[in-house]
Amino acid sequence: MLARRRFLQLGSLGLSAFSLKSFAQSPMHKPIVISTWDAGIEANKAAWKVLRAGGRALDAVEQGVMVTEASQSCCVGLGANPDRDGHVTLDASIMDEHFNCGSVAFLERIKHPISVARRVMEKTPHVMLVGAGAQQFALEQGFQLEPAVLSKDAEKAYRNWLKKSEYKPVINIENSRKQTAFVPNKLENGEWNHDTIGMVALDNAGNVSGSCTTSGMGFKMRGRVGDSPIIGAGLFVDNEAGAAVATGQGEDVIRVAGAHLVVELMRQGLSPEAACKKAIERIVKIKGNKAKDIQVAFIAINKRGEHGAYAIQKGFNYAVCYGDAANNLLDSKFLI
Ligand code: ASP
Repeated sequence: MLARRRFLQLGSLGLSAFSLKSFAQSPMHKPIVISTWDAGIEANKAAWKVLRAGGRALDAVEQGVMVTEASQSCCVGLGANPDRDGHVTLDASIMDEHFNCGSVAFLERIKHPISVARRVMEKTPHVMLVGAGAQQFALEQGFQLEPAVLSKDAEKAYRNWLKKSEYKPVINIENSRKQTAFVPNKLENGEWNHDTIGMVALDNAGNVSGSCTTSGMGFKMRGRVGDSPIIGAGLFVDNEAGAAVATGQGEDVIRVAGAHLVVELMRQGLSPEAACKKAIERIVKIKGNKAKDIQVAFIAINKRGEHGAYAIQKGFNYAVCYGDAANNLLDSKFLI
């Protein structure tokens, strides 16, 4: 009966037992923490300290991504690239094993948005605070207001961007849209001008949690919010199934409720890698020819401590840690 139910579930996803076999199951580990991109290596170390001591996955994923928020990164924390008006605005979210979640968006001048997101989750009746309200809440909670200055690298990148952007202050929204058409993809040096540190972990007690934090797209329109603070898009955790987090062009992650989609697919029996791949395929199908111009990637873990990832394009990697001596950067598989 159980086998038949499982077969029917897979059938409704358009999958057969045969197609599932083509996905290698990653080894099971508990505890385990995984995170996006190479910055994940350092972030995992901080998370691992919590997990090794028998701590909660929730604490691990907060402390892990704080490392990246405090570093000089192009795309995370106050040192990151600004929006097109020269302001760094930050998005973050966090979710625990009980469906508790909190997020902040369009937050300025606060060093650790992930911790503000956690306070939103723990100290307010709400899930999300944005902009001036999020900043006011952060200050009430004792966070410090940091100076409104760009890091050296961000200043340089912004000046370069301004040269070509031909950006002029908004006079007429139709014109300005045309002039400033937001092309968030590859820079001249071939790097993406956006990134997120996203992290998901399984602790000794068998509970999963996740976090993500970003400055979003470099040189985005002022007020733009990406997928990272949207629960179900950039991040989703379901303690019965697992956890997933996204990085890449947030608009396209939001369209398919990406992280929720991955977790739901895991619930229906797919491995983390197969679930990430299905979600990527969904985005590519929707984007058609334009898929080649964007990058989106998902990473996921399930309750058994298996992990996986999938990206649209080559070049995405993620850090997997299940021990002091086992914190490795893996290349993700990709679709096109
Ligand atoms: N997903 C982030 C955003 O759209 C950016 C990234 O991860 O590359 O804000």
